[in-house]
Amino acid sequence: MDAVKLLPCSVCRRPGPSDAHHINQGQHFTTVALCKDCHQGSKSGWHGEKIMWRIHKMDELAALNVTLSQLQLKEAAR
Ligand SMILES: [Zn+2]
Ligand SMILES: [Zn+2]
Repeated sequence: MDAVKLLPCSVCRRPGPSDAHHINQGQHFTTVALCKDCHQGSKSGWHGEKIMWRIHKMDELAALNVTLSQLQLKEAAR
């Protein structure tokens, strides 16, 4: 969870700290790192009109894939 918040945004790649968006409420292993805009933004965000998501052709699973691969890269760099 905390590690996810340090990642860049999984949609637009804006550097962290990011929000941790839960794909399913309460399931902490399926969280996606998102900037404020791609997360809560009323136009760009997942909880809004998802415009940024459409520009980058992303859905939640694609974003989760980015988050997990970035987490793994961080682990490997330790
Ligand atoms: Zn973003
Ligand atoms: Zn969210």
